[in-house]
Amino acid sequence: MPDSRPVLSIVVPLYNEAENLDYLFERLERVCDRLQVSYEIICIDDGSRDGTLNQLRAHHHRNPAIKVLGLSRNFGKELALSAGLDYASGDAVVPIDADLQDPPELLELLMAKWRQGYDVVLATRRSRAGESWLKRLTASGFYKTIGRMSPISIPSNTGDFRLMDRRVVEVLQQMPERTRFMKGLFAWVGFRQTAVEYDRQPRYRGRTSWNYWRLWNFAVDGLTSFSLLPLKVWSYVGLLISALAFSYATFLVVRTVLFGVDLPGFASIMVAILFIGGIQLISLGVLGEYLGRVYEEVKGRPLYIVRDRYGFEGDRLPSGFKDDVSR
Ligand code: UDP
Ligand code: MG
Repeated sequence: MPDSRPVLSIVVPLYNEAENLDYLFERLERVCDRLQVSYEIICIDDGSRDGTLNQLRAHHHRNPAIKVLGLSRNFGKELALSAGLDYASGDAVVPIDADLQDPPELLELLMAKWRQGYDVVLATRRSRAGESWLKRLTASGFYKTIGRMSPISIPSNTGDFRLMDRRVVEVLQQMPERTRFMKGLFAWVGFRQTAVEYDRQPRYRGRTSWNYWRLWNFAVDGLTSFSLLPLKVWSYVGLLISALAFSYATFLVVRTVLFGVDLPGFASIMVAILFIGGIQLISLGVLGEYLGRVYEEVKGRPLYIVRDRYGFEGDRLPSGFKDDVSR
């Protein structure tokens, strides 16, 4: 089936983005027409509560290159994106946000670099308009931390907006893990990478669904998926504290032998107990974070569940399958 393998697949995860759809497709279609390649736009409705899915369906009927996956509930952006990547069949695949923060016009530059032979072309944010200083500060803090803690170097100021060659996408489709920190996975696979810069725009319409609590959890997911440092550090902390305790004990024994018993010491005992107790709870908490994730992985549930599918009839189904109630 020649038309089932387009050159370019654009993958758009959407959660309550009804207001942005018309303008999004207008701009995407204009760029794709200019590029003069066969394309598909895979839209994943991530359990939206507004009219996103209905509108997507209407757009699919207008332009069959727009293909729609409707997930059975909100699975979160990372999983919605994974679903889209599983279904993408193009030679080049580009995930893009639905709110037009990533300008579709950059696709031309991404494609040009891809044609030069790069497997991955990152779109790096030169500036982030429309984001508060607190968000910028926490974002840069996060990138610094994960940069130091993880053996994989995760490019900072780079979101999911990038072009990937089919080979890269096939590797990503093979990854079975449930905690999908996409930026990290993208970096983990390697391949020949290059970057282009762009100015990140403010959201076109609607509001971001990422509050700080969600971002924090996202950051913890990233750190635990790509670094074992928080898990390993406790042996060293324990070792250090034991060494200190041992020297202090020696000192106490020697002092008691030489100078006799000296009773006061309530404060120091309290401090020691509370300190050690705190350290133990923290380390247990960290163990819990990892253990919880191991549990999630071991359950082996599907990553996402596709409820509706429009435009995939006759197309090849995704290779690795982690989903699909309809078969
Ligand atoms: N998104 C999604 N599922 C979610 C949350 C967000 O598919 O649970 C999509 C959203 O529709 C958008 C993209 O992920 O296309 C980025 O989301 P958003 O603009 O809210 O994030 P931000 O740009 O603030 O990081
Ligand atoms: Mg956004």
